[in-house]
Order: sequence, then C-alpha cells, then structure tokens
Amino acid sequence: MNCALVTGASRGLGRAIAVQLAIDHGLYMLVNYASNLQAAEETLAAIASNGGQGEIIHFNVQVKTEVDAALNDWKEKNNDKFISVLVNNAGITRDGLLMWMPENDWDDVMNISVKGFYNVTQHVIQQMLRKRSGRVVNIASLSGLKGVAGQTNYSAAKGAMIAATKALAQEVAKRKITVNAVAPGFIASDMTKDLNEDELKQMVPMNRFGSAEEVAHLVSFLVSDKAGYITGEVININGGIYS
Ligand code: NAP
Repeated sequence: MNCALVTGASRGLGRAIAVQLAIDHGLYMLVNYASNLQAAEETLAAIASNGGQGEIIHFNVQVKTEVDAALNDWKEKNNDKFISVLVNNAGITRDGLLMWMPENDWDDVMNISVKGFYNVTQHVIQQMLRKRSGRVVNIASLSGLKGVAGQTNYSAAKGAMIAATKALAQEVAKRKITVNAVAPGFIASDMTKDLNEDELKQMVPMNRFGSAEEVAHLVSFLVSDKAGYITGEVININGGIYS
C-alpha cells in the first residue's frame, strides 16, 4: 500500500495537505507531529471523515535518532507499506533582527527546516530509490527566495531547502523520483495569526492571505502522475506578491 508522510501535519498547511492527499490519491497518511497530539488526532479524524485512512507518527524532525527510531519501528510493523510521498512541511519562525537574534532562534529555525529535511528525507529516500519511484515536496517560503527583513534565520533556512531541492532532484531523477519545493507567501495559519492581516494584505496583489487548502491543492498536483516531468522546481503560491 502506498503511503504519504507529512511532517508537521497536526496543524495548518500540513493538516490541509494530509487531508487533501488522502482525498485525491487514496494514500494511507502518516500524520507527524512534534508536541500537539490532540491536533494530530484532529487531522486524523478529518482524514477519516473524508473517507481516508492513516495513523499518527510522533517525532521531532530535528533529532535524527528520534526520526530513525520512529520510522524503523513503523516499518517493522508495516512491511507491506511503502512511503511513496514525503512532504517536508514542519517549520517554525522566530522572527527578529539579526543584530539582536539569540543563538537558539537561529539554531531552532535552521534545525527544524534544514536538518529536519535531511533527517527525514535521508531515511525515506532509501526505499524510494529501491522502488524507483517517489515524490518529495518541500514546503519552503517566499522568504527563502526574496529574503525578508526580520527573518534572516527563516530566509536562510528556506533558501537552503530550495537549494537542497534542486540538488537532490538531480541526484534521484534517474530513479523516477521527483523533488520539488513550494514557496507560499502569506497563508492563514497559526504561524501567521499574530500578523496584522489588514495591513499586510495590502502588499498582496490579490489583497488577501491564501488558505492552507490552496497550498494543499498545489502539493496534490505535484505528487500526482500528471506532474511526473516536473522536478527541481520551486513553485510560488503567493497571490502575486513575488515571482
Ligand atoms: P503552523 O500552523 O505553526 O504549524 C506548524 C506545524 O509544524 C505543526 O504541525 C507543528 O507540530 C509542526 N512542527 C513544528 N516543529 C516541529 C518539529 N520539530 N518536528 C515535527 N513537527 C514540527 O505552521 P504553518 O503555517 O502550517 O506552516 C507549515 C509550513 O509552511 C512551515 O514549514 C512554514 O515555514 C511554511 N510556510 C508557511 C507560511 C504561512 O504563511 N503560514 C508561508 C510560507 C511557508 P505541533 O502541532 O506538534 O507543534
């Protein structure tokens, strides 16, 4: 049975992506979370109420030993299943000017996005390579392309994910695995709930924040058979703010 692992699927974009992939592709969903079990259970309930199937898998993407232990344990119990889709979605912001940025705020943002990408992808890609098929989608950001003042850490992390996407895509293309990045602008979620939406939406030509579901539809297309010749790309989804 083909499965999709979405990191940080307990809330926001990750939840919407997990639900959409179950609906559109009938994939068995692995709903990863770091700390919010109740929210992960709500994601699983949303998948089930849409006729899908899945389970929750807990690990902190920053910690390689935790990622490996959780995925090895899962594989031992599920040797009939194959993670054919990986969405590296887990991410955080710790905004502030670089001149005052505490070291932890740099490390946490980099480690969740960039080390997290390495930890999970390095594990999951082994079986994709053996099976000669797979889809990896990395959730980057407008910040990783444009650079945003007050987000030097986050811009660096997302920029690194974009570069890693392009490099890995070339490494695995011969095995029919595609690797792409999605770069959202302002999307309504817990991450953006404290921002001044009325003020910021004026920067967006479409004059609104996007929804998590709109991002999920893009990811769903990228993992579909129809997107089989698209790899190493960064797709913007930002209401026209930047491209
Ligand atoms: P969110 O609502 O804050 O949700 C973050 C998710 O990541 C949660 O499910 C959280 O799990 C999980 N997570 C955080 N740290 C983790 C860790 N160490 N290990 C595993 N999971 C972890 O954020 P969002 O807005 O949905 O953002 C999702 C992704 O989209 C992020 O990569 C973000 O950078 C990117 N993005 C968002 C926007 C936007 O405007 N919202 C724009 C561009 C890019 P818990 O529930 O367990 O804490």
